[in-house]
Amino acid sequence: MGSSTNMNSQLQTLRPEGRLKVTPAHLRREAFLYIRQSTLHQVVQNAESTQRQYALRERAVALGWSVEQVHVIDCDLGYSGASAVDRAGFQELVEEVSRGHAGVVLGLEVSRLARNSADWQRLLELCALTDTLILDEDGLYDCNDFNDRLLLGLKGTLSEAELHFLRARLRGGILNKARRGELATPLPVGLVYDEARRVRLDPDQQVQQAIRLLFETFRRTGAAHATVMYFRKEHLLFPRRERSGPRKGELIWGTLGLSRVLQVLHNPRYAGAFCFGRSRTRTWPDGSCHTQTLPRDEWLVLIPNRHAGYISWEEYEDNVKRLQDNAQAHGKERRKSPPREGPALLQGLVICGVCGRRMTVRYHVRQGNLYPDYVCQREHVAHASPRCQHLPGQAIDSAVAGLIAETLTPFSLEVALAVQQEIEARQEDARTLRAQQVVRAQYEADLAGQRYRRVDPNNRLVAGTLEAEWNTALRALQETQQEYERQCQVDRLLIDDQVREQIMALATDFPRVWNDPHTTSHDRKRLLRLLVEDVTLTKSEAVSIHVRFRGGATETLVIPAAQRVWQTWQTAPEVVQAIDVLLDQYTDRQIAAILNERGLRSGKGGIFYAYTVAKIRRKHHLKSRYERLREAKMLTVEEMAHALHVSEGTVKTWRKAGLLRGYACNDRNCYLFEPPGPDAPRKSQGRPLAGRRRFAEVALESAKEVQYEA
Ligand SMILES: [Zn+2]
Repeated sequence: MGSSTNMNSQLQTLRPEGRLKVTPAHLRREAFLYIRQSTLHQVVQNAESTQRQYALRERAVALGWSVEQVHVIDCDLGYSGASAVDRAGFQELVEEVSRGHAGVVLGLEVSRLARNSADWQRLLELCALTDTLILDEDGLYDCNDFNDRLLLGLKGTLSEAELHFLRARLRGGILNKARRGELATPLPVGLVYDEARRVRLDPDQQVQQAIRLLFETFRRTGAAHATVMYFRKEHLLFPRRERSGPRKGELIWGTLGLSRVLQVLHNPRYAGAFCFGRSRTRTWPDGSCHTQTLPRDEWLVLIPNRHAGYISWEEYEDNVKRLQDNAQAHGKERRKSPPREGPALLQGLVICGVCGRRMTVRYHVRQGNLYPDYVCQREHVAHASPRCQHLPGQAIDSAVAGLIAETLTPFSLEVALAVQQEIEARQEDARTLRAQQVVRAQYEADLAGQRYRRVDPNNRLVAGTLEAEWNTALRALQETQQEYERQCQVDRLLIDDQVREQIMALATDFPRVWNDPHTTSHDRKRLLRLLVEDVTLTKSEAVSIHVRFRGGATETLVIPAAQRVWQTWQTAPEVVQAIDVLLDQYTDRQIAAILNERGLRSGKGGIFYAYTVAKIRRKHHLKSRYERLREAKMLTVEEMAHALHVSEGTVKTWRKAGLLRGYACNDRNCYLFEPPGPDAPRKSQGRPLAGRRRFAEVALESAKEVQYEA
């Protein structure tokens, strides 16, 4: 410990009146050294500041505390300083101070913390109440001492101003450099800085190839998703450079996702353009950071053709435009989107029961009408994996519409009640919050009162100030109390008349409007959104539709899984029966002609053809003409030739000439024959066949005779 520091601490321990700041009472109590490192980064990087904090301990010892009395609270290492709520160390410190255990609190830059953090300000109040001293690197403060409080405040303001100028200077320098296009910003993978800090293509040929292939594939397919599909199909990997962490700068090869493709296509650096300020980062009240991408005209700097690139500036602009067009054509997945045109009733409300993602609506056109399909394809789009669920929407829509229309009356009451409950719960929350404000104001007023009573009445200036503060606090308390009572009154009125009326009106009006034939599908969709929170669809053997109403009521519907279109084309039973009868005598083509003649129509509403009859025959397991003839002991050509000891050709010739009776078993000129009786024809050389005819041709035996063939 140097002599100057000793001098300094000697000076600081003196009150203006010459009394010592550190009293034996202080020394009897403990000393708490609070060490705060907000991020893990600081923990690793700023070992030096930790050193500074530990040096404070020695100051405390120099002021008279024993080494055993100094307690270190450093369990907040690595936690964010945004809020005291989740910092156990800070809470411990507050507790020790408020119990009067602490004689002194040691910490770095207390003035800055007290300026920026409400928690620290409260701690200082507590220190004043419990007569606890504060010690930082610059000095020792007594919170009950007006000058010390002033000093703490001033130093806080100064450090804030300093920080502001520092930041402004830094930012100004950065901006000037950026405007000239000389700022070295992090480059996307595939671009690197050379020794002269100029941007070059990555010398790694494999990286270059991968990036070129991405642009080529997009050029060829015109779609980001198709690019992902291509890389997936060919099992191609894409490079990525680690931006932070212990592996910072390392090249990592992984599968290509949609977001990566979009990043690459949207990044102007690949077209050799320098840009700066494409996004803006904001800190939200809860301390979290949010980055927002800006439209191009809000970028701070954009200088095309500044350095080497993979594509031309023109191609970059084409790509961006193409992506925009695609997005408009297909629509992006939106959460709770407002009802858009298109008849799908549940648009924007459907959730996949398999993976929990939002499902999208696709339409297909059939006979001039639009039919919705609900598709879970998020994974499919992002990573080209197979579609999760794909459900025809019409049956689902009508089931939900039916549920709304039928069970609305009992439901509407329940929904109305749920809405009312929710409003009341929200009001209860607000009431609790307001009550807390009253308590807080009471506390402030008490504190101000105590401060006033403590002050030496001879010190007029201070007494006057404190009295004014006390009065202000009392006024604030009164106002808060009045506001609280007034709001409670308003709440009661709100739920009593207006809201209850609105709720009941909704409940009674709903069925009337819903069932009105003049209500358009657009309006129904809006009405549905008033009632339904979301609808979860799960398809197994059946489709289960889980409807969650606003306010928490649920209802599950089960409908049979939709059939394919052709499955719905049912053949009329009488047609099947007629075919069964006709098969005893006729071939498929003949039957088709007969059915058409009778004016019967197929399941699709068209006329019959031979193949339609064959299909129906197979589907309904009717015995074919061949099977029936075989069952009636008819012989094939080979069997007949064998039985008659003639060639197959002769059998055919004899049938045509009417010597044998044959029955057509199909439409390809195949015949089956009655077994030869005792007077079977024989080879009889020299006699003309025409003179030997025994049977007439079987009616309708050839295609030429069918008149209804289309
Ligand atoms: Zn899914």
